[in-house]
Amino acid sequence: MAVTITGFEVKDIRFPTSLTGAGTDAMNVDCDYSAAYVALHTSSSLSGYGMTFTIGRGTEVVCQAIELVVQRVLGKEVEELFADMGKTWTMLIGDSQLRWIGPEKGVIHIATAAVDNALWDMYARSRHKPLWKLVADFTPEEFVRSTAFRYITDVLTPEEALQMLKSKEAGKKDREKLVRDIGYPAYITSAGWLMYDDEQVARLTKEAIGRGFNHFKMKVGADFSNDLRRAKLIRSIIDDPANLAPGKQIDPASIAGKNAGPTGSVLMMDANQVWDVQEAIDYVTKLAETKPWFIEEPTAPDDILGHAAIRRTLKPLGIGVATGEHAHNRMVFKQLLQAEAIDVCQIDSCRLAGVTEILGVLLMAAKFGIIVCPHAGGVGLCEHALHLSLIDYLCVSGTMERNVLEYADHLHQHFINPVTLNSNGRYNVPNDPEAGYSTHMKDASFEEFGFPNGAYWRSVAEGNPKEVEL
Ligand SMILES: [Mg+2]
Repeated sequence: MAVTITGFEVKDIRFPTSLTGAGTDAMNVDCDYSAAYVALHTSSSLSGYGMTFTIGRGTEVVCQAIELVVQRVLGKEVEELFADMGKTWTMLIGDSQLRWIGPEKGVIHIATAAVDNALWDMYARSRHKPLWKLVADFTPEEFVRSTAFRYITDVLTPEEALQMLKSKEAGKKDREKLVRDIGYPAYITSAGWLMYDDEQVARLTKEAIGRGFNHFKMKVGADFSNDLRRAKLIRSIIDDPANLAPGKQIDPASIAGKNAGPTGSVLMMDANQVWDVQEAIDYVTKLAETKPWFIEEPTAPDDILGHAAIRRTLKPLGIGVATGEHAHNRMVFKQLLQAEAIDVCQIDSCRLAGVTEILGVLLMAAKFGIIVCPHAGGVGLCEHALHLSLIDYLCVSGTMERNVLEYADHLHQHFINPVTLNSNGRYNVPNDPEAGYSTHMKDASFEEFGFPNGAYWRSVAEGNPKEVEL
């Protein structure tokens, strides 16, 4: 008998990361890393788990929106949904009343992400493959069928995408073997959160070098003299050959055009949208002596031409522009690429409405020759983003030479299949055939951090917060 989707659970889970300063930047000063989470159940033992990332208050609003979006798939046969994931996605976003509170942006869109992510997770589980492998084994035709093309065909048609994907078929097996052997390149964010003091930044930066990283990101934009001092501190550590791991070899091609220092180390800066356009240009120009590769989110995420102006002005200083974690749909990415506004495309697995929309952005970025380095600072985002970077490498761009996928240390222990790193600071390829899209959370985590009735949040409400390990 055909398997159908018979039920769902929506859960609000919040981790009190604001207690530690993890995740802090110039805009987000007290984040509690959270997720609006959905489990989809079927008439068989098959389930799918999806989520969208949030940072505390408001997660309940996203949960309510998920409850509305998920109605679209209730009672549907799963094999019919899987057979054409592009069509399934169009159906998901196509509620003629719900789209008024988007369309394709804001709460309704990130709620749609949770549902689309859960469907892809279920699809991968049904085939006993991790998500990246499910997609990597698609024919080019299946890949195109699974991609959202509406409103982007002026820069990329399905026919052109098909040719791009076909041209990458040769070598796919070799690429898979290579990335399984050496891992996918990563950079670390968790040494440079804004609320960390100098001692903590120095210690974490040295530790990160020891773990094999050679790309480091710091938060900027709250106070110039602090930023300059911290940037110089980090540079003094990462540029000192005495701190290098013995035998560490850095491929010059991997750091080409990245303002790397004498040891091959790369510094990136993230302003989380705090500046107006001219302010961004002036501020970053004054930081140029510390040689950042890029400034991330220098201004409002919707200001495409503003990003282009910043990029044009900073280019002679060797500083690029990165953005995307708040780019709310594929059309924003299309315009960022058309306007030559970015050097680095930072897709977010939960801001865009799931895998289907992301495949379109990967294809556009490859067409424009812009590298994709997903946003992953947040709970569950590293787990998701690794699959997306592997899909990009294996099927779309065919390269991981200059790419680096964000890595932050926090909260991986709450997932049944957390990401892991090798000793060269690279992500290990997820190999568990039952891992789906890797964001199935543990029951114990909901019992502790479910909001508002988990043990931790009850203890807060009672005025006697429990000690927790995050
Ligand atoms: Mg960022």
